Amino acid sequence: MSLPADYHMHTPLCLHATGEPTDYAARAAALGLTEIGFSDHSPMRRDNFDTWRMNFDKLAEYVEKVRKARADFPQLTIKLALEVDYLPGQEEWIRELAGLHPWDYFIGSVHYVSDSWAIDNPDKLSEWKKRDPYEVWSVYFDWLTRAADSGLFEIIGHADLPKKFGIYPDRDCTPLFERFLKAAAKKNVAIELNTAGLRKNCREIYPSPKIVQLAKTNNVAITFGSDAHALGEVGMNFTQALRLARGAGYTHWRRFNRRTAESIAL
Ligand SMILES: [Zn+2]
Ligand SMILES: [Zn+2]
Repeated sequence: MSLPADYHMHTPLCLHATGEPTDYAARAAALGLTEIGFSDHSPMRRDNFDTWRMNFDKLAEYVEKVRKARADFPQLTIKLALEVDYLPGQEEWIRELAGLHPWDYFIGSVHYVSDSWAIDNPDKLSEWKKRDPYEVWSVYFDWLTRAADSGLFEIIGHADLPKKFGIYPDRDCTPLFERFLKAAAKKNVAIELNTAGLRKNCREIYPSPKIVQLAKTNNVAITFGSDAHALGEVGMNFTQALRLARGAGYTHWRRFNRRTAESIAL
């Protein structure tokens, strides 16, 4: 039985990852993966939006790096993708990006809950102290629901990112999760099982077993991603992610080719 694809991997062009795509491909092949996808942090319309993503003038170089990995490892299937930040008002920009290269999929991620605060940024940890966690989780899931509903993405990234630092609301968030998952199901958007959470304070795959279970109940498809920002993270903890998926009743993962979905047996 083969492993599902690792669909979430970064490159140095986002300014906070190391290792070239061709090296990630070598690592993936050594691990026995047969399919991977690069999904680096996409440019914003303004390059100075923040300091942890690809500048727009690097986009063509990014595509070339992924093509080089393909040429170097013809035995691997390598997808060309982006992890795109969803903020309300960015829809037109995301549509423009979509038309620039032959992308296989877009991962829609919410990192920002305002123009100036990315909730997962360790340098902005003090922002959490100024707010009620439930309020942050509410805005986050509202935007995530809008991302799923927008039709701009094939996959929603790390669907409970606000847990990264282990800061949880004291209220039940199930209605927030359900609203998001129903939008994802309706628009046929997958969620990823992202193993990077295991490497953070929360020590848990994104999203939680509870959300994965609710996703299965709502017929939301899944993909897998390591969110690798370094060579050693490629395909990391996939056995654990597979266990989580199977435990929730999943029998298939979703493959994307030029933004078209296909269901593959786990
Ligand atoms: Zn990153
Ligand atoms: Zn992300």
